Amino acid sequence: MSTLLIRHARVLVTMDAARREIGDGAIFIRNNVIEQVGTSAELPDQADEIIDATGHVVLPGLINTHHHMFQSLTRAIPAAQDVELFDWLRHLYPIWSGLTPPMIEASTQTAMAELMLSGCTTSSDHLYIYPNGCRLDDSIEAARQIGMRFHAARGAMSVGESQGGLPPDRLVEDEAAILRDTQRLIETHHDACRHAMTRIVVAPCSPFSVSPDLMRESALLARGHHVSLHTHLAENSNDVAYSREKFNMTPAQYAESCGWVGPDVWHAHCVQLDPKGIALFARTGTGVAHCACSNMRLASGIAPVRAMLDAGVPVGLGVDGSASNDGAHMLGEVRQAMLLQRVGFGPTAMTARQALEMATLGGAKVLNRDDIGALAPGMSADVVMFDMAQIGYAGALHDPVAALVFCTPTTVSVSVINGRVVVREGQCTTVDLGVVVERHNRLAAELVG
Ligand SMILES: [Zn+2]
Repeated sequence: MSTLLIRHARVLVTMDAARREIGDGAIFIRNNVIEQVGTSAELPDQADEIIDATGHVVLPGLINTHHHMFQSLTRAIPAAQDVELFDWLRHLYPIWSGLTPPMIEASTQTAMAELMLSGCTTSSDHLYIYPNGCRLDDSIEAARQIGMRFHAARGAMSVGESQGGLPPDRLVEDEAAILRDTQRLIETHHDACRHAMTRIVVAPCSPFSVSPDLMRESALLARGHHVSLHTHLAENSNDVAYSREKFNMTPAQYAESCGWVGPDVWHAHCVQLDPKGIALFARTGTGVAHCACSNMRLASGIAPVRAMLDAGVPVGLGVDGSASNDGAHMLGEVRQAMLLQRVGFGPTAMTARQALEMATLGGAKVLNRDDIGALAPGMSADVVMFDMAQIGYAGALHDPVAALVFCTPTTVSVSVINGRVVVREGQCTTVDLGVVVERHNRLAAELVG
């Protein structure tokens, strides 16, 4: 048994039922679980390790609900810089066909280190390309080494160009093989227990790269094993046009027709989700991963997040793949989500605290978890600390919590995941970041040529 006490936080943001923000806040952790939360005076003054949070805002670890970590190898590719989604994909598919298992492992570590430093403690990753012997196991192994809580989504593409899909034929897989491998991954890696560090998600890539059959079979497989479902939906107007042309349905109607609604389902983007789709998602508890930066980068549009939240749709945030962001700064994503709703729907469309709530409680709901996203007794010990003495916050300490979202995003000084200190004094403790970045850059150069 080991105990960890974090105390003297300038503000401790709980995201508990009362949304308490505690001045001179403290949190007492035993092993991987939060045991007590309160003021420093109320909590024990002894522990195996004590971290002084003076001058810091302490938050529940942020939750990233959509990513493609392998894309960290192909950021800012010149030919894909100034195009919309479908052309962007057509430029990148041929490069991604050169991915190898060491590239998956290296890019996952890079992406996770970047996320961890930016306040993220739980991430999903949607890996949908498996050339040259790549496996989702490569990502899972990397996550275990670095210590991030991980929802590994077994993506897939099965409809190539010759069948009317978008990806080149050589990148698609056989549908029976996809389902077999997904089942193997669930049986090998999925942990259904509270405080689980590894969960498997069933995740065909998108309506324009898999068949309705695979969508339906995936839903049956997931429900048979009580695991979640994830895909891309209604990302931009071309995506909607494809759905109307191929299936004679809106994306939301298509999702419903394949069994892809419910509290165990979340869809990335939903920029073009129509009012009927929003009502459907609210009624069924279907979640959305909102990816503000990616939507801006690809000029996909402004997702109607305000309307989704008002209707009761669970909404989390996602940095999306690093080829369409091209950063993976989770606190930065919170800021962009707030700003983008204001661009679309006015200055009161989203407050700083509402944006932070999407990145914590919202993300937990979307991932179908009730053990992360808040600092409260019985929750997983995922805690991050931001130092408010940094230059970017100077003059904003009248409201330190809002300052985190309004001001230029910074990196954490401390991150604790599942009770383990994975960032200390702003440095990753579980990997040598210099080595990780050097290897990543070498493999990126090899891949892009
Ligand atoms: Zn995506």
